[in-house]
Amino acid sequence: MASAAAISSSISSRSLLYRDSKAALIASIRHPEPSIATSAASGGPRPRRMLARPCCAVEPTKRNDSVVPSAAVAEAANAAVGEEATAPSAAVDYEELNKALENASPLEIMDRALDMFGNEIAIAFSGAEDVALIEYAKLTGRPFRVFSLDTGRLNPETYRFFDAVEKHYDIHIEYTFPDAGEVQALVRSKGLFSFYEDGHQECCRVRKVRPLRRMLKGLRAWVTGQRKDQSPGTRANIPLVQVDPGFEGVGGLGSLIKWNPVADVEGKDIWNFLLTMNVPVNSLHSQGYVSIGCEPCTRPVLPGQHEREGRWWWEDATAKECGLHKGNLKQDEAGKLGTNGNGVAVANGVDGTVDIFETQAIVKLGRPGIENLLKLEKRQEPWLVVLYAPWCRFCQGMETSYMELAEKLVGSGIKVGKFRADGDQKPFAQKELQLGSFPTILFFPKNTSRPIKYPSEKRDVDSLMAFINALR
Ligand code: SF4
Repeated sequence: MASAAAISSSISSRSLLYRDSKAALIASIRHPEPSIATSAASGGPRPRRMLARPCCAVEPTKRNDSVVPSAAVAEAANAAVGEEATAPSAAVDYEELNKALENASPLEIMDRALDMFGNEIAIAFSGAEDVALIEYAKLTGRPFRVFSLDTGRLNPETYRFFDAVEKHYDIHIEYTFPDAGEVQALVRSKGLFSFYEDGHQECCRVRKVRPLRRMLKGLRAWVTGQRKDQSPGTRANIPLVQVDPGFEGVGGLGSLIKWNPVADVEGKDIWNFLLTMNVPVNSLHSQGYVSIGCEPCTRPVLPGQHEREGRWWWEDATAKECGLHKGNLKQDEAGKLGTNGNGVAVANGVDGTVDIFETQAIVKLGRPGIENLLKLEKRQEPWLVVLYAPWCRFCQGMETSYMELAEKLVGSGIKVGKFRADGDQKPFAQKELQLGSFPTILFFPKNTSRPIKYPSEKRDVDSLMAFINALR
């Protein structure tokens, strides 16, 4: 288990190269903590001797190859791992390490991650503001790797941005591509835009999730740009470091370590950081894009709109599962993994998962209960029912509003229920209850047998109430 002092020990000597006046700004992004602050001069550990030259300093006139490291870089990286880097150990308690890093800056966390995993860790770069991760990695002065999922459907601006980032940092991004045979089979059978017809999961599975899985299988750790403020309902508990609950590393399931150095940084501070450091940014941001993904599936959002509203907007919001960061779910346990609609392992939600929507105002329906509701042609009262899975981040995200709504509707003559529709119940729910993905919200009007599916991605109390009032 690393001590706080050990966490902070390594940046100092390398920072002779990189800790310039810009780097001082890092501390303002996170909250500096005296107990972890880097300070050899203050009696901290002996400054590290820099055995490995930083990627971006190997050959000033050449780009460093992050994909297949050049001999010099590979040698340097291996030296870092073999001679100086802290070897990742199965004995590391990552929950404890997460606590120890609580007040560390993103730079310190990145430094710790690169120190522990050397050439076996890579930064996941989406082509958006997570370029901040690359900047932090550069500032550590250590060699680092960057990978990106090239789905083949990205915006031209994103490709240009990749190129700008490679040149700016003098690196080669490790692009990861979908399997050509899988893409060919999909496109030949369903066309180039099948996701507009039958949902994005199949295409995302082929173009994103499987390539990511293949990439991660060759690593011991990865770094993501996830932040808590991106979705308070689902990302509020993102740890700074964790054992990845879904994806496998070289050591199999439960062996991959996931680092989220900017988990506690707010979006505005990321942007302040990028602008201050004069980091290149994707030009799509200036066109109103917040979340940036594939060209056919991403659009700008208006001020005040959530970034998720710019993704897969033609679908029921309940289908917006991408499968890339399933570690944000409650009760993530590597030992309880199944497969979700994307073909990605997730907590199976059948045994031992903590339930959600737990309030007396919400009736828990079993299979007989929901079937009875379906059969009632003249039901005495309308019902609002959510089809959910407790492990689903979007279900978790609407938990507060749905429970508040249920409390409001007590005594109104409208019953509020929930039906857990994962596991064995999923085929039934898909066939009989219009389940696309989780959560699906249904309104069973008083005099109609067929339930009406809530069509919007807005799941706040007012929006749900407007839906009810329009149908009651
Ligand atoms: Fe396919 Fe759209 Fe998913 Fe990209 S975001 S992989 S184009 S469905």
